[in-house]
Amino acid sequence: DPSTEAYRRRHEITVVGDNVPAPITSFESGGFPPEILKEIQRAGFSSPTPIQAQSWPIALQSQDVVAIAKTGSGKTLGYLLPGFMHIKRLQNNPRSGPTVLVLAPTRELATQILEEAVKFGRSSRISSTCLYGGAPKGPQLRDLDRGVDVVVATPGRLNDILEMRRISLKQVSYLVLDEADRMLDMGFEPQIRKIVKDIPPRRQTLMYTATWPKEVRRIADDLLVHPVQVTIGSVD
Ligand code: ADP
Ligand code: MG
Repeated sequence: DPSTEAYRRRHEITVVGDNVPAPITSFESGGFPPEILKEIQRAGFSSPTPIQAQSWPIALQSQDVVAIAKTGSGKTLGYLLPGFMHIKRLQNNPRSGPTVLVLAPTRELATQILEEAVKFGRSSRISSTCLYGGAPKGPQLRDLDRGVDVVVATPGRLNDILEMRRISLKQVSYLVLDEADRMLDMGFEPQIRKIVKDIPPRRQTLMYTATWPKEVRRIADDLLVHPVQVTIGSVD
């Protein structure tokens, strides 16, 4: 389709993979329910960013995604909104564990992601919490006991809580590795691999990264199945 090609060229979008859907060039054409569109409107966003436009339709058709785009390109909502749709479709009981798990490298990032999840998930009745080190476990465990749909976690703290058997990942079927390159730089690879062993293999996996070095390619090869790769601009 020439308009798809023109949009991709204009926004420097490169896609690699099979059956790659056309980008969504407006929020309304994305297939999101009214509750979510209302939140987008409230936030004052006028159109999807290029990474959102191209990765939403891929994620919404349950394909694995590798997204390579620099900071500030809107990656968080790129994975959260399809994750919310996934939660609504499955209707799991959150008391049996989260359906969506987002791994992020730092407490600051996990907190920011949680804020977006709370803000954009509220009217869809999506519950979220975050787990990170350097803070008492008590309140984090209490949120888990109450039951949440979305857990945003740093790998170290999540492993601690897994070892305490205070969380089950048996219901996770949408896994996001955010800032994958930074998580590997920080030495989290063994922790990530350990966490993934607790998640059933029938899942959708999405990886977001600003750079694409061989360490990141290797973990993508191991954890994702026939992913579509979306790149915005040029990468290292
Ligand atoms: P990244 O993870 O790629 O660094 P973020 O997801 O943190 O980027 O988004 C950067 C900022 O852009 C955030 O403040 C976010 O709320 C805002 N944002 C996200 N999507 C849009 C959009 N479609 N239009 C305008 N701003 C947006
Ligand atoms: Mg980000």
